[in-house]
Amino acid sequence: MNIKTVEKKFKEIVEKESVLNNLLALIYWDGVTGAPEAGIEMRAKTSEIVSKDVYEVLTSKELSEYADIIIENKDKVESINYILAVDIKKEQKKLTKISKEEYGEFVSLCSKSEFAWEQAKEEDNYELFYPYLEKIVKMQKKFIEARGYNKHPYNTLLDDYEPDMTVEKLDSFFAILKEELVPFAKKICKANIMKSKLGSVKIPVEKQKEFNEFILNHIGYNFKAGMVKESEHPFTIGFGPSDVRITTHYYEENFLSAIYSTIHEAGHAIYEQNIEKSLEGTRMATGSSMGIHESQSRLFENIFGRSREFWKPIYSKLKETTEGKLDEISEEDFYKEINNVRFSEIRIEADELTYTLHIMVRYEIEKGLFDGSLDIKKLPEIWNEKYKEYFGIVPENYSKGVLQDSHWAGGLFGYFPSYAIGNAYSLQILNQMNKDIDVSSVIAKGDFKIINSWLKEKIHKYGKTKTAEEIIKNIAGEELNPKYYIEYLKNKFTDIYL
Ligand code: ZN
Repeated sequence: MNIKTVEKKFKEIVEKESVLNNLLALIYWDGVTGAPEAGIEMRAKTSEIVSKDVYEVLTSKELSEYADIIIENKDKVESINYILAVDIKKEQKKLTKISKEEYGEFVSLCSKSEFAWEQAKEEDNYELFYPYLEKIVKMQKKFIEARGYNKHPYNTLLDDYEPDMTVEKLDSFFAILKEELVPFAKKICKANIMKSKLGSVKIPVEKQKEFNEFILNHIGYNFKAGMVKESEHPFTIGFGPSDVRITTHYYEENFLSAIYSTIHEAGHAIYEQNIEKSLEGTRMATGSSMGIHESQSRLFENIFGRSREFWKPIYSKLKETTEGKLDEISEEDFYKEINNVRFSEIRIEADELTYTLHIMVRYEIEKGLFDGSLDIKKLPEIWNEKYKEYFGIVPENYSKGVLQDSHWAGGLFGYFPSYAIGNAYSLQILNQMNKDIDVSSVIAKGDFKIINSWLKEKIHKYGKTKTAEEIIKNIAGEELNPKYYIEYLKNKFTDIYL
């Protein structure tokens, strides 16, 4: 078989995998955005069968052999095929270390565990969840042993979300954040004596929808290649650049929640809509890493969306849509409301300043769980001790403490650090963008085209063909560095509160 034929056949299998994964995503999207309840079993069965097909396609001997030939002929093949082949070999190595049966057992354990977690959270009873968590951690440890690890067992899990990220790098990253941000956040929370005026403002869902559509257009979300629906937890789902959908959740008594989750998800979605068209139909038509993905959502949600400039051209529109309910609140007061900093127990409700502190707690715990230095039985006490240390508060119960997040119940260990990495990346990116564009004045004019095309050129168009490290080094000339993020937070909140 000549090399061109190998490339053609390789591409066909790659496309099949992408199509099957899109099918799975479509079933998921449908399930959480209004599909009939009675169809749960049928959809679960469909997903199970399609998942097995994905496994078979990915681990097939044929694909493995084609990938080997392509890697051996690096100089003769299309560069995209080489990148795909390397990625597929890595995935195959990971998948074949775990048997299909074990993987199935793990998936089924996680779905039972998610159910137990929900119940445990509702009844505020850690004991209901503990046996599942123990089993999940045990299985993950077994997988790590099978997959192998470099230096620290947790590195294998980190690599799933942030390729090449290590405990060594993250230890120094979080140490700097801890030293700089923990005392600063304490100072700001003490100085914040603001009483929220928005607490009593209720905005009907229909009006919120109208404004959210406006804001999505304003920041450059492309409705021709996307759509918005509602779900319990907001998320983004991409089928390639031509179809990237988002969801939101409306609360009548908290209209800011939908605005900011919409901007956040749109940051993820604009990223995927801007991926090079030619990558569609391959596993490269997605974000580079979870950290880079989060950097984009946080750039829009926090750095742009919680700035004075952002609201300059559109605050009057918000006032108009909310029919006079914000008449008493000046633009400056509104700016302070969206930057109301306080220590709270719940990560997903945290403000921009204290958010990363929640991640530090989870990072330390996950690391300890996998190097054996932490006893799962004592997890609730350890959780509370850490909240006391970082926030000066002890969660009033398990539901607001150790049971608040769904990640561990779903077997997702190694994911949390991506949020903090994304925050740091977003400021490294902004710092460089400011050298090419006067970002503040562009936002004050509401001109997101300039910003989005800069992001497309430097980040978005590459999809997953460049690693996070390559992207950040290309832009900032250095690896992950929390310096700009710390500077930004200190300047912003000193200006508001001190
Ligand atoms: Zn996100």
